[in-house]
This record gives sequence, C-alpha cells and structure tokens, in this order.
Amino acid sequence: TQVSNQISAGEVIERPASVVKELVENSLDAGASQIRIQVKDGGMSLITVSDNGSGIASDDIPLAFARHATSKIVTSADLFKIGTLGFRGEALASIGAVAKVTMTTSTKDGLGDTAVVEGGEMVKREKTSQPQGTTITVRDLFYNTPARLKYMKSVQTELSHIADIVDRIALGHPDIAFTLVNDTKTLFATVGNKDWRQTIAAIYGNSVAQALLPISGDTLDYQVHGYIAKPEVTRASRNFISLLINGRYIKNYALNKALIEGYGTKLMVGRYPVAVVAIQMDPLLVDVNVHPTKQEVRLSKEEELTDLLTKLVAEQLGTARL
Ligand code: ADP
Ligand code: MG
Repeated sequence: TQVSNQISAGEVIERPASVVKELVENSLDAGASQIRIQVKDGGMSLITVSDNGSGIASDDIPLAFARHATSKIVTSADLFKIGTLGFRGEALASIGAVAKVTMTTSTKDGLGDTAVVEGGEMVKREKTSQPQGTTITVRDLFYNTPARLKYMKSVQTELSHIADIVDRIALGHPDIAFTLVNDTKTLFATVGNKDWRQTIAAIYGNSVAQALLPISGDTLDYQVHGYIAKPEVTRASRNFISLLINGRYIKNYALNKALIEGYGTKLMVGRYPVAVVAIQMDPLLVDVNVHPTKQEVRLSKEEELTDLLTKLVAEQLGTARL
C-alpha cells in the first residue's frame, strides 16, 4: 500500500539526532509531562531519554523492540492529526539493532523492568524498582555497523543536530518540562507551565525573549499564531525559524521565505529572524507524499499561507510591502 511504501522509504536511524527524535517522540506519545535528554560525545557514546509517561508493561517489552510492532496504528492522512507521533513500530527495533540499549520502565511507581538489547538481541531481563515512566539509554551507536560509523561528523556537529531537534520539539510543547544535558552541562530546561514566551526564553535566551512580538491571524484554511523577534535580534542561519503544523515540527522552504519576506529591508543580507509559529489546519491539506519522517512537507494551498505569514510579519513590524 501507499502508506507502507511511504513508511518503509528511507532509514529510520541516520545519526544520533534521529535516535533522540524517535525516543523523545515515544515519550510524548506515552503522555509524559517531564522529559530529560542527556548525551555524551554528540550522542555517539551515550544518549539517555527519561520520561514520566505511561511506562511499558512487562509482557509488552519484547514487542516494543520487535520490528513493525506498534501500539499505534494510523493511516496516511492521520499523520498530521493531533495524535501519536509513532506509527511504524520501527524505531526501537532499529535502534536496538545498531547500539547497546538499556530500558528501565514501569507502569506504576515501584516494581518494573530492566531490559538490555545489544545488536538486536535481548541479552538481559530483570525486575527492578523505579518510578513510573521509561528511561532508555543508548550506548555505542553504530558499534556494529562500521560503514555507518564512518559517516558521522564531529561531536560538535552531531550535538548541534541533537540540540536543533530537541529545541524544536520543546518549542512545540510548552506544556512539557524538557531538560537537555550535554555531558554534565544543562543546555536548557523548560518548566512546562504552558507559557510559550517563557519556553522560548529558556531555549533561546533572554535577549530573544525580550525582542519577541506576537503575530496571529487566519484565513479560511489556516490559523496562525506565534512569535517573531524584532529585526534587531537576528541569526546567521535559518535554523532559528520554527514552524509547527498541528503541533508537529515541519520544514518548508516557502514558509520560511514568506516569513523572511515580511521583514523586508529591515533584515540585513545574510541575517535571518528568530521565529516560532504554530499553524493549525485541516490535516488533509498536508501532502504526505513527502516522507513523513523527514519533516519536509508540501501544502496544497501554500500561497494562501505564505501570503498570510508575510502580511502578519509586515504588519507587526510596520514594514512597507514590496
Ligand atoms: P512506534 O512509536 O512507531 O509505535 P517504536 O519502535 O518507537 O514504535 O516503539 C515501539 C513501542 O514501544 C511503542 O508502540 C510503545 O508501545 C512502546 N514504547 C516505546 N517507548 C516508550 C516510552 N517512552 N513509553 C511508553 N511506551 C513506549
Ligand atoms: Mg516511536
């Protein structure tokens, strides 16, 4: 089927940041209100994701690591409905195949389980005591796939990919307390009190937070609300523009461009704005022929949205429309 073709296209685990993304999305699916991510050596030697979500029942642990075993079934059009992020049942199996994974999990405070999977084999199971939730530790990523290992970039590059993905997931979930720790240093911690401005401040710092201006507006098909930073606070890359569709972080060149256009001549050449913009829309208007794990999406009424974004930014900044 089309869905299964879309789903099987590409590989799930490309680099440490893909592991982080899959584990954090599982924590979100598990209803966690607190998610802590710790990495070492750009995630190559260690990635730990801890959550206070539902936990996994003892009997379901082998299934969680099995390929194509998912407790979440959806169709193509469901991908952009507000719902679970997982849908392939492939992430844990893939991670377990190329790393040494320890999972401790419990469905209630007290007795739970610890399971160790290495190179796709369950090598250890035991009963352990821990609070409700799940902690997954991934060590020595790609230790048994030297070809893949060769493609890893510097620690700094891998760490920046991780920070990038965690930043954006945290920006999209101001109701969840995220902590990102590199080695022993906390890179950011959000409080999870639903205050979007405070969440942006925790991630991007006070200078950005103080320069934020709200934007909001809608068309027949789209509702937009978010924050854009004044042109005084710019960055040297587009990476500080975050777009969320129905709560899910996406990439779309035309939408980025539309936002930038709204700044007009107030933006110097080579400088880009900081912006966090949430878009609500009918999920049927998202073209999911583009691979769903790649975050890149196409919209069927794109111009309606790009016009709106440019207009909202220009109005807020008092930019002359070209
Ligand atoms: P998917 O998310 O596509 O279902 P995964 O391989 O990511 O597949 O996860 C397999 C299953 O393991 C999930 O369906 C879920 O039941 C369980 N699981 C994984 N991580 C967690 C977690 N942090 N908390 C609770 N359950 C989890
Ligand atoms: Mg998943």
